[in-house]
Amino acid sequence: MPYCPQCFIEYLEGTAQCEDCGGDLVPGSPPEAPPPIEIGDAKDMKLVSVRVFSGGTAQMDADLARNILRAQGIPCVLPGETSAKLLPVLDVPLLVREEDAERAARVLEEYLDTDTTAGTEEADSI
Ligand SMILES: [Zn+2]
Repeated sequence: MPYCPQCFIEYLEGTAQCEDCGGDLVPGSPPEAPPPIEIGDAKDMKLVSVRVFSGGTAQMDADLARNILRAQGIPCVLPGETSAKLLPVLDVPLLVREEDAERAARVLEEYLDTDTTAGTEEADSI
């Protein structure tokens, strides 16, 4: 079955384009999974918090930021993601390798601090 090389989603025979990203599908089966970026195992690797998300959408924001960084090839870790489902998380730090911290911060600024979602602020409700 054809699959999307971007999204690793398998489609039915005869499908030409990915419904998700619109990209051309390639024949065959998708590889096992997108290559995971794992840095959690490397215990001696120094991780720094590039940004701390807080508030009700902290987990969502952190997930988004993580996806952004991964898309940029920057490995990152959300330490809360394994246990967060059980506890309300107030602050979600996003960790990256120290050597990536500066670049990660810049990437996040570029993506998160540009006002694409400014309309959702609650400032007007006062
Ligand atoms: Zn796709």
